[in-house]
Amino acid sequence: MAVSPLSSLSPSASDTAVKLTCAVNLQDNAHSPLITHSTGRELAEQLNDDVRHKYIKDKKLGEGTYAVVYLGHLRVDPSSLVAIKKIKVNAEYKDGLSMDAIREVKYLQELSHPNIIALHDVFSSKDQNLNLVLEYLPHGDLEMLIKDGNVHYGAADVKAWIGMLARGVWFCHENFILHRDIKPNNLLIAFDGEVKLADFGLARSFADPYLNMTHQVITRWYRPPELLYGARQYSGAVDIWSIGMVFAELLLRVPFVAGNSDLDQISKVCEAFGTPTEDNWPGVTRLPNYIPADKNHTVPIQGREFFLRQFPTAGPVGADLLMSMCMLDPRKRSTARQVLQHKWWFTEPKPTEKENLPRKSDGTQKMGNGLTRKGGEIDDYTFKYTARQLDFNAGE
Ligand code: AMP
Repeated sequence: MAVSPLSSLSPSASDTAVKLTCAVNLQDNAHSPLITHSTGRELAEQLNDDVRHKYIKDKKLGEGTYAVVYLGHLRVDPSSLVAIKKIKVNAEYKDGLSMDAIREVKYLQELSHPNIIALHDVFSSKDQNLNLVLEYLPHGDLEMLIKDGNVHYGAADVKAWIGMLARGVWFCHENFILHRDIKPNNLLIAFDGEVKLADFGLARSFADPYLNMTHQVITRWYRPPELLYGARQYSGAVDIWSIGMVFAELLLRVPFVAGNSDLDQISKVCEAFGTPTEDNWPGVTRLPNYIPADKNHTVPIQGREFFLRQFPTAGPVGADLLMSMCMLDPRKRSTARQVLQHKWWFTEPKPTEKENLPRKSDGTQKMGNGLTRKGGEIDDYTFKYTARQLDFNAGE
């Protein structure tokens, strides 16, 4: 019997403390209690210097829209690797920091969970740039695995990855935080195979359900219909839709609904899952950007048979879970807790142990030491229940 993913939800109390010694915009913030007196400012600067000196920055690992990421290590222990994310100084935000950076620090310091990237420290460099010291995740991201034709994976692997993603999102939602940018590229892989939710630059708290929020979030292919229709009040259901899209993409190895504009995205969503109406989604016609459906072309809401036909590798129970994440009406979508309580986790195949999950690289090794299974190999059971979409090299 597979173990419910709920069983490993609790974070370890020992990693909860994040030392935040750098006040945002330290010099200009005259109202900060840290720096009202010159001695306070000196103390803050001293603390910041102490943190900065703990780390040595090495080679550049990658670059995102608002940051450059470097490999780094602890000065006292060169084998303790970290990722140092240096926030770019942007002309737009020259008097302070971008909201993305502020959000990333604010939410990551609140969240400590095995499936959420850990923020170890924050410091400002001599040039006044903010640096986030993050857990180093050396094995790329899920997008790399999906796209790499040399990486073969099966239903048990998909179950393990979706379980880890769902646990991370559950923890965010329990803490009233929406991620708002879940996609394969933001799911980084640790040395031991654990998948970690990263990039909290668009995250926000959703404690007040009546507060208006922007609908311009979540990368288009993973964006739920309520946001495409311009909803300003929404919930954790937006992240659940994104998990559903990641789930579908892992099974198909291509994005399931890939629009080339917001308008094209909503029309593809309706084509795939059904036409929203007041009957199947009460209130949809009152959403700000709702577009009335063409009366001559309405698609009925898709049921179980559709999901099973489209995603045979998920099996009937997996297809049922996927369907519950892809309900057009966000109120009907599963919550993260319901996802983790679904019977899929208790049906065969069991999720692959994280150490045995396929990994990127030259395709000759599995994660962990001393493992004999080669990259790309899948066991008989997995193979039997794996459709050809999962195997780019099947030649079919
Ligand atoms: P980001 O700005 O978060 O999108 O990061 C840009 C790139 O840096 C990513 O695509 C990764 O290649 C790399 N990267 C980011 N964070 C980490 C990390 N914690 N460990 C290893 N590489 C990372």
